[in-house]
Amino acid sequence: MSRVYNFCSGPAALPEAVLKKAQAELLDWHGAGVSVMEMSHRSTEFMSILASTKARLKRLLEIGDDYEILFVQGGASTMFAQIPANLTSGYDSACYLDTGAWSTKAINEAKKYTNVKVVGSSKSDNYTSVPNFDQLALDESAAYLHLCSNETIGGLEFADLPETDLPIVADLSSTILSRKIDVNKYGVIYAGAQKNVGPAGIVICIIRKDLLARCDDKLPTIWNFANLAKHDSMVNTPPTFAIYLADLVFEWLEEQGGVEAMEAINKKKAQTLYDYIDQSAFYANPIDPAFRSRMNVPFTLADDSLEARFLEESDAAGLRTLAGHRSVGGMRASIYNAMPMEGVEALIDFMKAFEKRYG
Ligand code: PMP
Repeated sequence: MSRVYNFCSGPAALPEAVLKKAQAELLDWHGAGVSVMEMSHRSTEFMSILASTKARLKRLLEIGDDYEILFVQGGASTMFAQIPANLTSGYDSACYLDTGAWSTKAINEAKKYTNVKVVGSSKSDNYTSVPNFDQLALDESAAYLHLCSNETIGGLEFADLPETDLPIVADLSSTILSRKIDVNKYGVIYAGAQKNVGPAGIVICIIRKDLLARCDDKLPTIWNFANLAKHDSMVNTPPTFAIYLADLVFEWLEEQGGVEAMEAINKKKAQTLYDYIDQSAFYANPIDPAFRSRMNVPFTLADDSLEARFLEESDAAGLRTLAGHRSVGGMRASIYNAMPMEGVEALIDFMKAFEKRYG
């Protein structure tokens, strides 16, 4: 067996310890005589896994009792529709911040449900920066303010939030659990699982309980956040194995020292990679240094005709999935929690050698 360093943006690398534990428990989970995949979702065994997953997430992110944790199916893209469908009843509009490809998708989907007010956009600088929060055209009568704290494709991340009384609804798909956040500053946090949480199949949704009063009875039952909360995310059969793996990832995170410890490592990983890119005339990253993503590091080669060769040779060296998103090209190294410092060092060593050969 030889595992590679997997830089995929998602589904992304999982901690090896988690995969091994899942493997060890695959045929017979804790003496149940079946795997988690084969268990009734209503069984006491699975209910204990669900409770454990929620309790660990609550501890890791210090989520208060005034928030509900939901496991939603359909991916973060479904949330782009579910958010306005659930939260705009009784309101004329919703505010959106536009910082890149994923914000744009959320905006386009929301337009089907409500009047979208784009309160700030960095489109004119090709999404290399974040709009000045003091100059946002916020409408305090809107349903909420939506933003995407880490643009996975562009590699743009911001930790600060605008000052507003509107509930902030944040797509944290590619940054959740990678750095400390104050959950109390958000109305809703949602995140697709397949980067920092577990396999694809669930979206974590952390929602302030008072917002559940907005969920209209006319919503499809399975889409209604209030209904999901009432039934503990078990309106129908949830993706049980994905939830179980999320529990194992959360357990692993707790063993690593929690979010604060991960943040320190993530900072170091990203800084080392950006420092190397910045001192080189061969590689470049276009993002304003104040907003460079710690999770997704896009970079270009001075001579883009070498891209195919870079990908071929890096792949052969065991550094997998370094191609940029198909919409932008170039390279992208996604270095989520499960990517160790050694993986980043191996990438830099390869980049140095490649530059020496072709630079
Ligand atoms: N938001 C962000 C920030 C993402 O990175 C992604 C997926 N890469 C999505 C939303 C969409 O996720 P899904 O494929 O689960 O719908």
